[in-house]
Amino acid sequence: MSNVRVCVRFRPLSHKERKANGDKVCFKKLDAESLVFKDERDEDVIFSFDKVFYDDAEQSDVYKFLAVPIVTDAVNGINGTIITYGQTGAGKTYSMEGPSILHCNEQKTGLVQRVVNDLFECLRTSASMATWTVNLSMVEIYLEKVRDLLDLSKDNLQIKESKSQGIYISGATEISIMNSSDALERLSEGIANRAVGETQMNLASSRSHCLYIFSVQHTSTPDERVRAGKIILVDLAGSEKVEKTGAEGRVLDEAKTINKSLSALGNVINALTTGKSNHVPYRDSKLTRILQDSLGGSSRASLLCCCSPSALNSPESLSTLRFGTRTK
Ligand code: ADP
Ligand code: MG
Repeated sequence: MSNVRVCVRFRPLSHKERKANGDKVCFKKLDAESLVFKDERDEDVIFSFDKVFYDDAEQSDVYKFLAVPIVTDAVNGINGTIITYGQTGAGKTYSMEGPSILHCNEQKTGLVQRVVNDLFECLRTSASMATWTVNLSMVEIYLEKVRDLLDLSKDNLQIKESKSQGIYISGATEISIMNSSDALERLSEGIANRAVGETQMNLASSRSHCLYIFSVQHTSTPDERVRAGKIILVDLAGSEKVEKTGAEGRVLDEAKTINKSLSALGNVINALTTGKSNHVPYRDSKLTRILQDSLGGSSRASLLCCCSPSALNSPESLSTLRFGTRTK
């Protein structure tokens, strides 16, 4: 059995979509695991996943299915990854952060905040955990360069590997966090830094991958064994195709690089889930290299494929669903 869960989430129709195209949606709901989608030849195709979240799904439903096992395992020294995939506007960041990392009600709170809350809850309530530390790093990958979101002066970090630490981002700022409000404060600084960097370089956030990295270490009683686990949450760059004609310069470079790293990710997950390949091509992109010891092996991963429900976005949603099935 594979340790990768692949789910789909359709957000509610936006006002803009309703205005442009009424309530016409691109899929037919079958059940909690499958849906029907018309392909480009107008033929019905059934897609099945570990779970499909429709527009009535709450943030807490998504969290419970995708993330709870990852949080409890991280505390026991098992690494995990939670990834959101999809075209720009499909709901990746909303699923991760909710409408705002700092200010939103319980119902709308995103995966990141829920992970943080439960992580500290687990650490505090477990009687066997004598001492623990949680460290936060936050980086962005743009054009295959790793940028530190907690210190913008570090804009080309290298990925390394060691026996004791596994895969790590050399020189990345690591902040020790003591509780969830502390963590959210720091995360919001990282998010603000991301916006500053983008303005300076005239970039759009949808063109980079954003990684929130939590490393947990604890010593348990009575055996004094040290366990270390990490959880990496990844808000991917938009998966939309850019127009083949017309794109040039940086836009074309961005599109090619994003495409390459997203297909590298697809290939890695595919190799893991099918078990067909004994070579998992982690080294094909910075993203998969960073995720190397948090995807595969005994680690757990969840992929949330985010889709617009509108018929207007049907080609992009179809491509997202295909990415999701290809990884299964
Ligand atoms: P992405 O990060 O994939 O580009 P966003 O998460 O920014 O997309 O979502 C685009 C818009 O749709 C935002 O205004 C967001 O608030 C809204 N949205 C996305 N998902 C949901 C949802 N499940 N419920 C309500 N609004 C959502
Ligand atoms: Mg986003």
